[in-house]
Amino acid sequence: MGIRIEVDRDLCQGHGVCESEAPEVFEVGGDHQVVVLDEQPPEELRPGVDLAVRYCPTRALGLVED
Ligand code: SF4
Repeated sequence: MGIRIEVDRDLCQGHGVCESEAPEVFEVGGDHQVVVLDEQPPEELRPGVDLAVRYCPTRALGLVED
């Protein structure tokens, strides 16, 4: 069982908190929208992903247990 990341692109404002918490998984491009580099990240990246989800200021990120 793993996790899958979902992004609500209407909410993302490109703050980049997610990239700070988990740069292996999130990248904010020049258009101020997050790019998810790995939608199903391995378990060892889970702590950073959890922080990104928790601290995204617009709550644009969600996790689904697969
Ligand atoms: S922290 Fe949230 S609002 Fe900021 S770039 Fe990441 S997903 Fe978008």
